[in-house]
Amino acid sequence: MNGIEKWLERRGVVIDDIAEIVLALQHPYNADLTVEECRLSVLAVLDKREVQYVLYTGIALDELAERKLLPEPLQSIMEKDESLYGVDETLALGITNVYGMIGLTSFGYLDKMKPGIIRHLNVKGERIHVFLDDLVAGLAAAASARIAHGDPKAIQYHLPDSP
Ligand code: MG
Repeated sequence: MNGIEKWLERRGVVIDDIAEIVLALQHPYNADLTVEECRLSVLAVLDKREVQYVLYTGIALDELAERKLLPEPLQSIMEKDESLYGVDETLALGITNVYGMIGLTSFGYLDKMKPGIIRHLNVKGERIHVFLDDLVAGLAAAASARIAHGDPKAIQYHLPDSP
């Protein structure tokens, strides 16, 4: 498990949670797709340094807010998860944009429907997931777009014999 997977897991998100969403997004277009192929696509997206940087930034802000370490007014905005804040969605687009327009459409859909782990993260409790719900939606949208674009490495990636 690499660094970014550990960060996600620390925040309650495992790769399979994201792969399930990718499968649901792609299933209408590709009935033969497996959850393992979706998992590999998520890992391929996570392998990109610009994606990792977005995740580190958003997750760090969530964690700093939980520890009440952010300066005002940001601390209060994060605690309330103010709907006009919008920086969480903007940051997540940094992940989705890597795979173009299809990713953007899926991101909008996931943001509205909040399936699976995204809905779970959205429930207000002790923890603050202002950024993480959008980051997970961005990851799922990007991994889905990657499959839609038919990138052959979507399947080959991370197999033991790949170069
Ligand atoms: Mg959010």
